[in-house]
Amino acid sequence: MTKLLIGTNNAGKRREYLEILNTLPLEILTLKQAGITVDPDEPYETFEANAIHKAQIFARESGLPTLADDSGLSIDALNGRPGVYSRRYAGENATDDDRMNVVLSELEGIDDDQRGAQFVCVSVLALPNGDTASATGIVRGKIALQPGKRTNGFGYDPIFIPEGYDAVFSALPPEVKNTISHRGRAAQALLPNIKRLLEVG
Ligand code: IMP
Repeated sequence: MTKLLIGTNNAGKRREYLEILNTLPLEILTLKQAGITVDPDEPYETFEANAIHKAQIFARESGLPTLADDSGLSIDALNGRPGVYSRRYAGENATDDDRMNVVLSELEGIDDDQRGAQFVCVSVLALPNGDTASATGIVRGKIALQPGKRTNGFGYDPIFIPEGYDAVFSALPPEVKNTISHRGRAAQALLPNIKRLLEVG
């Protein structure tokens, strides 16, 4: 069976891609299963450039077709921050809680109707020869006044309320998040290219 490497060291992202791609006739491998230990940097200013960079490094290292993404939370009232800096927004060794606390304190005093935000994801399929295909997914919503229920999810999920819902991302079942999320939408949009380039399904 054709192999596809999920190129991320983020356990939350890895779980979501495994859920999203599980119906494809592919042998899906994690970095650990492929014995890959590199942790690429994110040197660029756009999600797409960083996603291509990461996917190509993993594909070259492993010799396998690789799916990787760069993603993050862009908040309207913060001029799009944290954006591509989402992972590093509270410093290198910060926790998800540290990052959410920075965001919530930056939004202190900002009313509910001014707390619009979106999660953005650029998913990239890279082949070992360097060829790539990419797709973008976006989900609009708003930033909660305080963290909500943490049943599922990761990262900024406890403070993001997707449009059309009354609950934060981390309170929704995984299959609901995966259907409407930036990552789910990017993967869905990339699917025709995954099938074409890997000659499956
Ligand atoms: P990167 O793509 O590895 O730079 O990481 C993106 C960062 O954005 C993650 O570490 C999370 O903090 C955040 N992020 C991306 N996607 C999600 C999501 O689906 N839920 C919550 N946080 C996310």
